[in-house]
Amino acid sequence: MTTDTASESAGDKIRCDACPVMCYIKPGAAGACDRYANQDGVLVRVDPHILLERTVSHGGRLVPFQASGDWDGKIVQQPDLFVTAIGAGTTYPDYKPAPFIVSSEVDGVDMVTVVTEGIFSYCGVKVKIDTDRFLGPETATVRVDGEAVGHVTTSEYGSQMLSLGGVHHLTGGSKKEGRVTCDALMDLSNRKPVELVIDGGATVVVQAGAPPIVNGVKEERMRVGCGSATIGMFAKQWQGKVDEVVVVDDHITGVLSEHQAGKLLDIPATGIKMKGRRSTPGRYFQVAQPGTGWGGTDISDPLAILGPFDPKTARPGTTILMVSTTGEHAGYYVLDEALRPVEQDMPPDLKFSVERIQENCEPALCTVLFMAGAGGSLRAGVTDNPVRLTRSVKDALTRVTSGGAPVYVWPGGGITFMVDVTQMPAGAFGYVPTPAIVAPIEFTLRLSDYAALGGHMDYVQPLGSLKDVSKDIRQLPWPVRSAG
Ligand code: SF4
Repeated sequence: MTTDTASESAGDKIRCDACPVMCYIKPGAAGACDRYANQDGVLVRVDPHILLERTVSHGGRLVPFQASGDWDGKIVQQPDLFVTAIGAGTTYPDYKPAPFIVSSEVDGVDMVTVVTEGIFSYCGVKVKIDTDRFLGPETATVRVDGEAVGHVTTSEYGSQMLSLGGVHHLTGGSKKEGRVTCDALMDLSNRKPVELVIDGGATVVVQAGAPPIVNGVKEERMRVGCGSATIGMFAKQWQGKVDEVVVVDDHITGVLSEHQAGKLLDIPATGIKMKGRRSTPGRYFQVAQPGTGWGGTDISDPLAILGPFDPKTARPGTTILMVSTTGEHAGYYVLDEALRPVEQDMPPDLKFSVERIQENCEPALCTVLFMAGAGGSLRAGVTDNPVRLTRSVKDALTRVTSGGAPVYVWPGGGITFMVDVTQMPAGAFGYVPTPAIVAPIEFTLRLSDYAALGGHMDYVQPLGSLKDVSKDIRQLPWPVRSAG
């Protein structure tokens, strides 16, 4: 599409001023970010400007950019059309009004949507990887191509969290570190696979919405719960079929006969002795080291976490099921005359219970949330009194979206938001070589509220006039989940 971004000539070259890099671009060539180009002496935004249409005809699924064909200019009169910032362009410096400030009537109310492709030096991604396997110690550095791009943070229930990017890696290290971090953030946000290597841990291929690949092995299942929760869930199904069950888990290993669930079901003591630290009855911490074996521990033989059975209580012939929190690993044992567990074929009804654990595990996925602070100078493109925009967002008068997708705005100062990249049209993110990530952001509010907060009213244009200024518009169906 053509752009009103200011440009000046230097011979045949034109100067793009859409970001601080200020490229001189030769005819027929693109600038350093590949977002702007010199087309016959005119500065153009290379990608199409994306509009989203509320529809149910595509079952809520997005179609690719190219599949929708060129926009015929008719549809912009429809009230269910949303102007995203994808392909809208950027204005720089920030006091210039945002590229598009579009008015429309929704349910009889005059609304305005301010759209811009924000340039974010303060941004990153939060990654949730559904796996029990040990990916690396907390705070360990995460690398791409040998460069530090982030770190391992807390484990959540069945998932390992990573915090990647941020201004420290984008601007605070070497030039290469900034470039590699920027590329990794853009690829992850655009739902491409990225190989991450964790110091002292695993190599993981992460792709938003796809299963993680840990050390070359695709993760299939997310745990049904911790070891204790698994005992709680399935205790009744094991009653009468086996004397003892141990659910092996790196965090909380559960033991049926000692657990409250076993007590309530009158399951007798078996004389079992666990290694590790007993937390509460039937719940043990640190039975082994973290790893990629049974239940996220480093063990391949589950008997390694058992001490000798207590001869005062244990009886030969006692049956024991040992199983991991995903049901991926399981073994059946019977105590011999010397009270040693001996592995035997698992009875069918216990096999069924292991399959039930597997059935209750959800598919393991990677989740990528893009996180950025829009509370800085970007606000000046919306209003000449930036703090009023922040207040308006906090007062829920202004709705923030990113490529049409709903965002979570953090409480507290600024407009710091997170968005699930799988809710956005593919390819919504770009970069500039400062380095920084370019991400779409839209602010939607009542026209009257916009005027009250000092909005750039002279630049408001009706939705129907977009076709006159945006020559390359693509219309996509709006994902059902993000339509609210
Ligand atoms: S990097 Fe891109 S946006 Fe920045 S000046 Fe160059 S062409 Fe324009």
